[in-house]
Order: sequence, then structure tokens, then C-alpha cells
Amino acid sequence: MYVCGPTVYDEPHMGHVRSAYVFEIIRNYLKYSGYKVIMVRNVTDVDDKIIQKAYEANPMNLIEETKNISSKYFDLYKDELSTFNLECPDREPFATQNIEEMIQLIKTLIKKCFAYAVGGDVYFEVNKFLDYGKLSKQKIDQMLEGVRKDTNENKKNPLDFALWKNAKEGEPSWPSPWGMGRPGWHIECSAMSIKYLGETFDIHGGGLDLKFPHHENEIAQSEAATGKPFAKYWIHHGMITRDGHKMSKSFHNYIMYRELPLDRNNRAEQFKFLLLGTHYAAPLDYTEERLKMEVQNWRRFKNFFDFVKQIDGDISPAVDSNIKKFKQAFTDAMDDDFNTPLALTVMHEMLHYANKSKDPAIMLEIAKLLKDLSRQIFGLFLDKQEELVDISTAVEKECQKIRAEEAIRNRKTAKEAKDYQTADLIRKKLLDEYQIELIDLKGGKTIWREKL
Ligand SMILES: [Zn+2]
Repeated sequence: MYVCGPTVYDEPHMGHVRSAYVFEIIRNYLKYSGYKVIMVRNVTDVDDKIIQKAYEANPMNLIEETKNISSKYFDLYKDELSTFNLECPDREPFATQNIEEMIQLIKTLIKKCFAYAVGGDVYFEVNKFLDYGKLSKQKIDQMLEGVRKDTNENKKNPLDFALWKNAKEGEPSWPSPWGMGRPGWHIECSAMSIKYLGETFDIHGGGLDLKFPHHENEIAQSEAATGKPFAKYWIHHGMITRDGHKMSKSFHNYIMYRELPLDRNNRAEQFKFLLLGTHYAAPLDYTEERLKMEVQNWRRFKNFFDFVKQIDGDISPAVDSNIKKFKQAFTDAMDDDFNTPLALTVMHEMLHYANKSKDPAIMLEIAKLLKDLSRQIFGLFLDKQEELVDISTAVEKECQKIRAEEAIRNRKTAKEAKDYQTADLIRKKLLDEYQIELIDLKGGKTIWREKL
């Protein structure tokens, strides 16, 4: 699978994380289902926006400054993803390292009469590609509306798009049959996907905002050049909105991940929960209430995993056909276009079922299944987070444990003396004063957990 990666000219935002996470889950689930996956995600490191930023910073040395900017923001992007424990794609090619492949592809398009060179630029002639518009299913009028800002008089048709751009003075540029210049954005992805995955490959992904014109143009260029179908499946993820509105710096409603009210030690995991709660193809509407709810949901699972650690390991495995059914329901949800909200619902049902059963064998079995699924597919509950727990939280947790264990011992003694009133009082006091809940399991053991 090929995924359109970032243009590295600004700080990474929540949309970058959503994109990386969506495709990470898809990759993980395909692997889990037995497929062999090669994932390629490119980096656009030369582009109008990067050059514009370089021009503002250091107009006298555009070439050097463009490199500085793209490497600075690429590093920030990678740092951001690593806080989420998101794995690297198998290949992460940079546009500037694949210029020769792009030139070859453009030469083929000119030879096949799908492209024309004019004044040092090369354009793709949209009218020659009869299937143009088949992905976004737009009418010519709508497409014209989408490109109306671009009024370049060298073009035969406003919809024609640049494959190669003549270099302006001082800009980064490469030699080509049409003079010094640089590639257009769309041709980058065609050249790199064909190079690493072949002329036809399985999945092409990206944000919904890339469907037109970027992906439409990728199809046109690639299929015109190779004469073969390009990607078999297109997967577009939705954008992130805030309280129902588009999030944008110019609307003053922009929020960065680091500003979100999340638990200090588990920020990344809780944010992932927020992402999972919306189907990848839908817009994710961020509201504070939504976030609070997902944080609470995350805590329920974490609490459960901590809680079952108190159950001794040498218990014979549970014989319960419901566990198999839960697993099937989870994979059914994921098989249905990676329906993560439904898969999460199944996980909640499993949690509920385990808690209700009070059967240590069932609890252990469900905890294992939940952890397996959430680790392998969602990259959650990796336990890496726990290392980050700060001293005061660690001390607090230890006190809680001592308090709970002492109460369990005292309650047991009271019960043995048939003093049920005291036993009950101990349980109630613990709950009211310290929000610690005692659970009597089948078989006689009592364990505790923090009441959420
Ligand atoms: Zn792309």
C-alpha cells in the first residue's frame, strides 16, 4: 500500500497523526488477517509551500534554506509520530531523491501525447485521458471550480496540471530535457509508488482532501503512462473538525495535540482512543465532551488490566463459548471496512461480560484476548506508558494498594468470625472514603480496583 505522506513545511498537527494511525491500523489488521503488507509513505520535501517559507526566512540562499526547512519539519513529524508508538512504513522515500524516475515518467507521457512542454514547463493534457474524473466522480464544471485559482496562460485547458515546473531564480532545481526545473507534486507520488510497488498495486491511501485533484491526477498520469490500472482500492480518511467546524489557524479554533486535556502519563493512548471512536472515512469532530468520554473509556480498560493482575496465574483456562463469539464479532467489525467504532463496542461488551462474570478464569481469558487485539491492531496498552509514571502517582498507587490489601485481610477475619456487620462496614468505608471497590470472585478470592 502507498500512502501520501506529509509536505514538510510546518509543525505536525492532529490530522497528521490521524492519517498515520488510520493506515497503521489498516496495515496491522491486514497482517493480522494473514496478508503480507509492504507500506510506502512518501515525504514531499520540495514544493511551493516549502520554497515560500524558505523565501521568507532567507531569500538569498533558497536552496540551502529549503533543505533546512524540510529537514527540520520532517524531524518534528517523526518525533510526533514516535510519541504515539507508530511504526515506520517499510519505505519512506523523499521526492528529491527520486527526480530521475519522475523525469522518465514525464518523458513517457510526452512520447504518448498525454503531455506537452511549453516555456520550460510540462503539463498533462486532461482532455486526452478519457477517464479523467473517475475517482472523484465530479463533473467538469465542479472540477473547474476546484482549480479556478490557477490561471496559467501556458495551459491549453485550465484543468491541465503541471508535471514539471520551470525553475525561478535561486530556487532548488534539477536538469531535465525541458531545462532546469522541479517536478510538480502529483507526479512525485506516481513515480514513487510505481518504483516501489509496481505499475499496479493494491491500496492507495490519503486524506479526503487529496481525492481531487491530487489522486485524480495520479491516476491519469500513471494509467496514461503504463496503460494499466493504477491502484485497486482507494482509502481516504476524513478530516478533523472542532465543534462541527473546520479547524484552521485562520479561524482561531485550531488546537494542537499537546494542548488537549489528557492524563499526563497516557496522553498518546487516550488520543488513540479518541481516533478509534470515529470511522476512518468520517470526519472526526473534536469536542471536549467527546474527549472526556473517550479518556474515561480508556481508563476503564486500563483499570481492568491492572485489576486482573491480582488474580493468580495458575487457574485452568475458561471454557466459555462466548469468548470465541466476541472474537468473531471483533473481526467481523474490522472486516467491514475497518469499522473501529464497532470493534471498540465489542471490546466494551467483553469488558462488561468479564466484570459481570466474577469468574477469575473468564476474566483472565478476556483480559488476554483484549490485550492481544488492542496491542496487535490498535497499538494500545503496550505497557510502555507505565514507565513514565511520575513519583507522586507511583506513591499514591502504592498507598492505595496497601490500604486495599489491609482492608481485604481485615474483612476476611471479620467474616471468619461471622461479624458480617464489620465486614460490610470495611467494604463501604473503603468505597466511600478512598473510591476503592472490593470484588468477591467466584472461588472465594477478593480483589480490588479503583472505582471509576
Ligand atoms: Zn500523493
